[in-house]
Amino acid sequence: MTIRHDMVDVLIIGAGASGAAMAYSLAETKMRILCLEQGEWIKPTDFPANGRDWEARRWTDFDWFPNRRGRVTDYPVDDADSPMKVANFNGVGGGTVLFTAHWPRMHPSDFKVNTLDGVADDWPIDYWTLEPFFEENDRMMGISGLPGDPGVPPRFPPLPPVPLGLTGMAYARAMNKLGWHWWPSDVAVATQEYEGRAKCINLNHCTPGCAQGAKGSVDITYWPLAIRSGVELRTRARVREITLNEHGMAAGVIYYDAEGQEHFQPAEMVIMACNGVGTPRLLLNSVSGKFANGLANSSGLVGKNLMLHPWPQVSGYVADKVDGGRGPMTNLWSKEFYETDTDRGFVRGYTMQFSRSAGPVAEAFLAASTGRLPWGKDHHRVFRTRLDHKIQVGIACEDLPEEHNRVVLDHDNCDSNGIPGAKIEYRLSENTQRMMEHGIARATEILQAAGATDIYCPRNSLNSPGHLLGTCRMGNDPARSVVNAWGRSHDVKNLFIVDGSVWVTGGGVNPTSTIQAIALYVADQIKQRLATLFD
Ligand SMILES: Cc1cc2nc3c(=O)[nH]c(=O)nc-3n(C[C@H](O)[C@H](O)[C@H](O)COP(=O)(O)OP(=O)(O)OC[C@H]3O[C@@H](n4cnc5c(N)ncnc54)[C@H](O)[C@@H]3O)c2cc1C
Ligand code: SF4
Repeated sequence: MTIRHDMVDVLIIGAGASGAAMAYSLAETKMRILCLEQGEWIKPTDFPANGRDWEARRWTDFDWFPNRRGRVTDYPVDDADSPMKVANFNGVGGGTVLFTAHWPRMHPSDFKVNTLDGVADDWPIDYWTLEPFFEENDRMMGISGLPGDPGVPPRFPPLPPVPLGLTGMAYARAMNKLGWHWWPSDVAVATQEYEGRAKCINLNHCTPGCAQGAKGSVDITYWPLAIRSGVELRTRARVREITLNEHGMAAGVIYYDAEGQEHFQPAEMVIMACNGVGTPRLLLNSVSGKFANGLANSSGLVGKNLMLHPWPQVSGYVADKVDGGRGPMTNLWSKEFYETDTDRGFVRGYTMQFSRSAGPVAEAFLAASTGRLPWGKDHHRVFRTRLDHKIQVGIACEDLPEEHNRVVLDHDNCDSNGIPGAKIEYRLSENTQRMMEHGIARATEILQAAGATDIYCPRNSLNSPGHLLGTCRMGNDPARSVVNAWGRSHDVKNLFIVDGSVWVTGGGVNPTSTIQAIALYVADQIKQRLATLFD
């Protein structure tokens, strides 16, 4: 028997980056707000950083690939038809629990690529509309950085930057030699005590979770404040489908609790924040007489135009020891090749992201699997020249939207509640491949200028860095978009989407800063229009 709950004013699905920002912002309205999240709270004591097996757990219960992690709270994502593997985390905090916390914003040009470059579509909003929300979000997340970067619009991070350290200095010297732009990165890591958060103590476990509480994951930034303001967050609540009423409006959702019990939660308004794979999956699973091909899908675009940010990593080894394994992973960026220059043979561009290397197990895996660490008598000697000698440059490529890159339902692989999983179909375009090769060649020059040798870039394992974008794009034309310029479904007037799926194009940056700025902007639009929202 289905358990029926009392009506809420606002129902948010997903407690990740965008769901948390939305919940916090709407809380001031004093509406009855409920968030349903399929995963659970992760206690700081559960993070791998607490044990000596921390690196091994990056490939087990804290793996960023859901299929390998295989928690009961995960859902399967079949990526066999894609050169890129999907990364995520399902729990309070969503992807921010595992994220590396690098914090660039989209550039103004990213919102108008059709006007500037004649490709894809312009966004219905621009950078300057989002600017106040970028700033609010930076304060809420506790961003560290250095104002004054000539490569990006002005921004005012509330905390001082992450120190460059030995690795950062090696990159900075190389970039100065080449005369290319670089700047200390904005990072969602507290470099000083901030709003009850402890400061970073340079443990370098950021990606599998920061037990120190210095990394700005939304379970410790937005959620405590939203809950204190009256928002209810119900965990182990996995939504199967959104239902419609006789007026064609969202009536509420059917979800399962941890025991597999079915519930019906009615709501005046439903806001989806399940990310660029989870949101189309849920819409495609919500079929009805009116929407036989998935809810809010009259355009046929739900699930299409998936963008994942191809991200080749170019690595090399320097003679002097650097400080891999200590401090946040990333602390420099370069915007030298961000904007279009058609002489390069492709449109749009990429951010270069400069990283420290990780711990000994990761280094052993990578060096051995690329033939850089022999077995036998030379093993230890060579390993000493690898560990703490690696520098690596990531190339954050913009992949333009293409309809054949998409998320579809996978009826053969279901989650623990029997709900069909997701399947990714994705190909690299010619433009992206040229951009990648250009970036790999420039990164190689940088590593050479830093004195690195044995430089390599595996092209056969392009992991998505967890950037899941574009599958329910925003736009003014209902035939070419799923939601309007303020996140409301064209088809269902009390249904909103605020996660990365509303992106029109992907830019060449890590997306979370912009995802959350959009969520705060949509929340602001909802607050301003409350009286006429469903007209
Ligand atoms: C390893 C890794 C490193 C990353 N590094 C960076 C970085 O350095 N910088 C950066 O900007 N970004 C980074 N990211 C990406 C970042 O985490 C995402 O951009 C961001 O979390 C996306 O926010 P979102 O709100 O769209 O979705 P998410 O944060 O993914 O949240 C979605 C939530 O919805 C829940 N959900 C989904 N379906 C359902 C359902 N049916 N019922 C109930 N709940 C549901 C999920 O459990 C999840 O908690 C990284 C991601 C990973 C995995
Ligand atoms: S380096 Fe800093 S932010 Fe990263 S895990 Fe350690 S304490 Fe946390």
